[in-house]
Amino acid sequence: MQEDMSLARPWYNVPVRLISSYAEQSCVLRGHTVTELIEGMPHINSQKLIGLELAGFDHDLADFVPIPDGVPVEIVAGLQDEPAKLYDLAQLTASRPVRVRLNCIPGFVSGLSIAASLDMAVALEIPLSGTAGAEELVAGLELALYRRSLTQPIDFYHGLLHTCYHQTPVDLFDIQEENPATSRYITDTGLETVSSRLAWILTERQVKPQDLFAYRDEQIEKYAPACFECEHGPVCRGYFKWHDPTADCSAFHSLFDVILDAAEQLAEDVRHAQDDVDSASH
Ligand code: SF4
Repeated sequence: MQEDMSLARPWYNVPVRLISSYAEQSCVLRGHTVTELIEGMPHINSQKLIGLELAGFDHDLADFVPIPDGVPVEIVAGLQDEPAKLYDLAQLTASRPVRVRLNCIPGFVSGLSIAASLDMAVALEIPLSGTAGAEELVAGLELALYRRSLTQPIDFYHGLLHTCYHQTPVDLFDIQEENPATSRYITDTGLETVSSRLAWILTERQVKPQDLFAYRDEQIEKYAPACFECEHGPVCRGYFKWHDPTADCSAFHSLFDVILDAAEQLAEDVRHAQDDVDSASH
């Protein structure tokens, strides 16, 4: 399972106050207010700026005006954020790509539905424990697969669908942006880790970011060897059990099955469409 890290060129998610130390790296600049992000932007090589990450939904649209058009913005939902506040930011998509990051906690589908209706992309943080509300995950999947008006991707659903359809070697760690070869997260205290939510696990277990996959494989081999036999192993890679072998991933087995079926159906539809084009041209 272990990846070759020798060619690694990760991008960094960096808090504004530490940006000067990463000025020449590819970065996402992270802050709590639009104003502090704007103040931080001159301290990074603009060619290296991937986007801006903003905490919470409660911001004034007018504050975004000084940010050049086209600079992507990611809005990260806090536990107290009301999904309806996203309507106040609807106009942001006229000038830049906007992605909303949502934790899959009870009620997340409401935020997902509103963001999707506003043409905002969505990144779902699936629960590390695997114990998400299965019904909500299915509702989110149905929205991602069947809402005709959808214009932007909803990850992890669409990332997985893409992986299954194209049979690419991409897994949940990639889709969740928790592959240390490609992304790193700098905590507010300056600690380099893989993502905000993996920070405490890696710190507690004294695992360096670059050693995450070696540690994961070691833990799975010792405590959750069933992951090596699991039919979803190639896309999951033990995502739920590497840090907790007792994690219940059964809800995700069903989701993986549905997404795999959808990818096969899509491939069949594309084949039929191609056949129709071929026969019409003869
Ligand atoms: S058993 Fe669960 S955690 Fe392990 S690979 Fe399969 S779905 Fe993933």
